[in-house]
Amino acid sequence: MLTEFDLIARYFMRPSHRASRAALGIGDDCALLEPSPGMQLAISSDMLVEGRHFFAGAHPIELGHKCLAVNLSDLAAMGATPVAFTLALSLPEAKEEWLAGFSKGMFMLADEHGCELIGGDTTKGPLNICITIFGELPSGQALRRDAAQPGDDIWISGTLGDARLALAGYRQEIVLDSATIEAAALRMHAPMPRIGLGIALRGIAHAAIDISDGLLGDLGHILERSAVGAALDADALPAGPTLLQQSQSMRRRFMLTGGDDYELCFTAPPAKRDAVMAAAQAANTPVTRIGMIGAGAGLRVIDGDGNPLDLQLRSFDHFASP
Ligand code: ADP
Ligand code: MG
Repeated sequence: MLTEFDLIARYFMRPSHRASRAALGIGDDCALLEPSPGMQLAISSDMLVEGRHFFAGAHPIELGHKCLAVNLSDLAAMGATPVAFTLALSLPEAKEEWLAGFSKGMFMLADEHGCELIGGDTTKGPLNICITIFGELPSGQALRRDAAQPGDDIWISGTLGDARLALAGYRQEIVLDSATIEAAALRMHAPMPRIGLGIALRGIAHAAIDISDGLLGDLGHILERSAVGAALDADALPAGPTLLQQSQSMRRRFMLTGGDDYELCFTAPPAKRDAVMAAAQAANTPVTRIGMIGAGAGLRVIDGDGNPLDLQLRSFDHFASP
């Protein structure tokens, strides 16, 4: 029988290494972390619940990756560099095969970003995974939601909608062949947090957010917090490679409201267009200009000719009725 402490020691404690940023890691009542001089800590938590954020029986390697990826994505949206994270884990049973896969998926992504596991909590219960992540950035340089300015361009990284297309396939909302679902599901299971882009946009972008609940809703948070409005060009939105094969109305709906994309939506003044393109190139991440921030309130969606689209769309909300 694997005890709680065996489990932590075997799957979550790793030999400490010289590059460690933590003065003290796993094993004491608290971890100790020294912020670098002149830097602010960026801190975020994200919880993933079985049956809510992922299907029961989800692949443990993919799940380990995704739990950390969604947290890293919040750091990316702030322009922060990852430093460390804690893991609070509620598990129905200590299955070694599951733990081995989960920790492997999580640590592969953690190592890619030099982000160290420094503590956590482990308990028996329904499968529930909560990570708190710590990053840092030069004081005053965070890409905040309340910093969009009238006249700013609106940009999006990568592509939108494939994760939503996979969900539609799984739920049989539409008929898709299994190869299409599998291709689209890559985006759902293995999102790539845009850490490099977020860091490269420091001092260039005004506001940023990561797209977890759908572009309309997430951009809406920027508009609300910045007290501005926006016009979004539906024809400029970059569809994921799999979604690209679908009808225009589905493309629009899934790109505007589909969640789980984990792309960055950010605003920057038109005078910074070259700087944005250079940052995107440095981070090896494509970006597309998709609209403009205006002084008036509200979010208008227009087509490529500037005609308003009347879309009855909204983003995902856990507490809204279905
Ligand atoms: P406490 O009794 O203070 O709650 P625990 O016995 O829960 O401490 O944890 C012992 C040590 O193991 C602590 O340093 C804690 O941060 C760490 N820890 C517990 N669970 C995990 C986990 N899932 N991942 C990483 N570290 C963990
Ligand atoms: Mg504890």
